[in-house]
Amino acid sequence: MTDLKQKRVLIIEDERDLALLMKRHLEDSGFSIQTESRGDDGLRAAEASSFDLILLDLMLPGMDGLEVCRRLRSQNVQTPILMVTARTTEVEKVLGLEMGADDYIAKPFGIAELTARVKAILRRMENLAASSAADGAAIQVGTSVHIDPATRQVLVRGMAVNLTPKEYELLLHLARNPGRVYTRSQLLDAVWGYSHDGYEHAVNCHINRLRAKLEQDHAHPEILLTVWGVGYKLADATGT
Ligand code: CA
Repeated sequence: MTDLKQKRVLIIEDERDLALLMKRHLEDSGFSIQTESRGDDGLRAAEASSFDLILLDLMLPGMDGLEVCRRLRSQNVQTPILMVTARTTEVEKVLGLEMGADDYIAKPFGIAELTARVKAILRRMENLAASSAADGAAIQVGTSVHIDPATRQVLVRGMAVNLTPKEYELLLHLARNPGRVYTRSQLLDAVWGYSHDGYEHAVNCHINRLRAKLEQDHAHPEILLTVWGVGYKLADATGT
């Protein structure tokens, strides 16, 4: 069992009652919590010190959650971000190309679901760190992608690319078995650690984001391949 008790969580939420509820329950689970009620203050807090997870509301005074997320990622802050949103129409955008959130939870949610989700994300990060430390050998995918699990650095055609933690986990999982086909639900289980009805589009969003970062021609992928009717695979060492 991993020890989650030292983990620091930043909650950026302007609904005072909800922020307090989340804070209390996560503190009961042993987490250390900081709360901010404005987007701009939350961004400053996330820049000023390091957290293990950020719970980020979408609609915030000062700066909205999408902008907070985008700015953190553009500064290469790779802390996992769990978006909290009542607007399901925004979910595609949240998980979409530019924003770099790792996961979302839709309002209204049960506090038990929130706690479970937070723990799942933190466990996955710990497991990933442990497996990278245990198996730090670099992986070459085809001729163009080089992954160094020890430093979490990914080179594409010799250039370093910034991946969010989820994009990195997805790529690493596929890269450890190049040529093997994974269904969306297998990837959900392996990379997100849980299944969730209607959630498979999260896999599609992350695949699209990875392609935008890896492929020379997004419309004709040569690295991250679709296997029609089944799922996805990474091209094998011959690059085909
Ligand atoms: Ca709000």
